[in-house]
Amino acid sequence: MYKINENYQKLPGSYLFSTIAKKVAAFTQANPEKNIIRLGIGDVTQPLAPAVIEALHKAVDEMGHAETFRGYAPDLGYDFLRNAIVEHDYKSRGCDISADEIFVSDGAKSDSANIQEIFGPDNKIAVCDPVYPVYVDSNVMAGRTGVYDTQTETWSDVIYMPCTMENNFVPEFPKETPDMIYLCLPNNPTGTTITKAQLQEWVDYANKAGAVIIYDGAYEAYISETDVAHSIFECEGARTCAIELKSFSKNAGFTGVRLGYAVVPKDLKCGEVSLHQMWARRHGTKFNGAPYIVQRAGEAVYSPQGRAQLKEQVAYYMKNASIIKNGLQDAGYTVFGGVNAPYIWLKTPDKMTSWEFFDYLLEQANVVGTPGSGFGPSGEGYFRLTAFGSYENTLGALERIQKL
Ligand SMILES: *Cc1c(COP(=O)(O)O)cnc(C)c1O
Repeated sequence: MYKINENYQKLPGSYLFSTIAKKVAAFTQANPEKNIIRLGIGDVTQPLAPAVIEALHKAVDEMGHAETFRGYAPDLGYDFLRNAIVEHDYKSRGCDISADEIFVSDGAKSDSANIQEIFGPDNKIAVCDPVYPVYVDSNVMAGRTGVYDTQTETWSDVIYMPCTMENNFVPEFPKETPDMIYLCLPNNPTGTTITKAQLQEWVDYANKAGAVIIYDGAYEAYISETDVAHSIFECEGARTCAIELKSFSKNAGFTGVRLGYAVVPKDLKCGEVSLHQMWARRHGTKFNGAPYIVQRAGEAVYSPQGRAQLKEQVAYYMKNASIIKNGLQDAGYTVFGGVNAPYIWLKTPDKMTSWEFFDYLLEQANVVGTPGSGFGPSGEGYFRLTAFGSYENTLGALERIQKL
């Protein structure tokens, strides 16, 4: 009789988005005349940029002719894309990263879930709390997290770094030394970030502790302040302690197109063993390359037209972010984020729990957001609104909230 991977049985149900969907469905059924505005899920709404569409069409046509048809893509990505990434995301910022350190993938969710495979089962992970759920859940599946405590909603073998108002949402070095540290900056869900000097401290800490930092830079394009690093490789010493994950989902609206990449520097070594070689081996065995058509679309993101168009798209969402942030502040809310990230993280008023505020907002303003407690115990008492809606919906939602 076969056996299953028992670790999957340990996963607590991820009820967050299904609970939200059920509550919204029940409300809509009871109040069919109400027009609901959704600022909950972190998905983009604006169409792909014209430069990207043009590149997609051209690549599709190439696939229709024997002379230009392409089969399997190289495992690690086409040179045209890896070179564009290095030029624009690294060289231009003074980062010493070469094209053969870039591993093109189908997105940062898969990379952030898969990267733990090349680390030993006894490594201890540290995560921010609240956090993007993928980091912990993928380690649960691998049997690395110990026992789940339903009371505290924490795992016995995971180090949690609370990020709350009290520490300005900046994780502090944990008391116990971790082996693997997940950092997502600018942060989902809190929308906050840290300065380059603060990130340098994390790099120094990891090098000293012999830890690796898994750095999720999915929201890099939303950085507006000048003292914030766009890549962890802007920090001295990051080549010996960091892996960076990037995505085309939020900077270029590729959530339905699928493209991302990981940077594993050749200087990242565990004793004599190169993690770059391990990830190349893993990628070569388990991934057969991102589609040619999509990689051409990714290349267009870096063209002069693509860059100009996407700068506008990011500005569109960030205008929504400031409408939400300012509107909530005017209405008396305590608000965070929204400056270097498309998320607004607010303190629930009157000591409401995250779910109480969810119900209140749904019933009174017909606006859907995401309860902070869904991202971890330290998210209790907070609430996330996204700037990824349309301008009109964002304005509408804020008008309603201000009338409460
Ligand atoms: C959206 C998001 C990603 C990107 O995921 P893709 O798989 O590239 O779409 C990665 N990390 C975080 C924290 C995110 O919010």
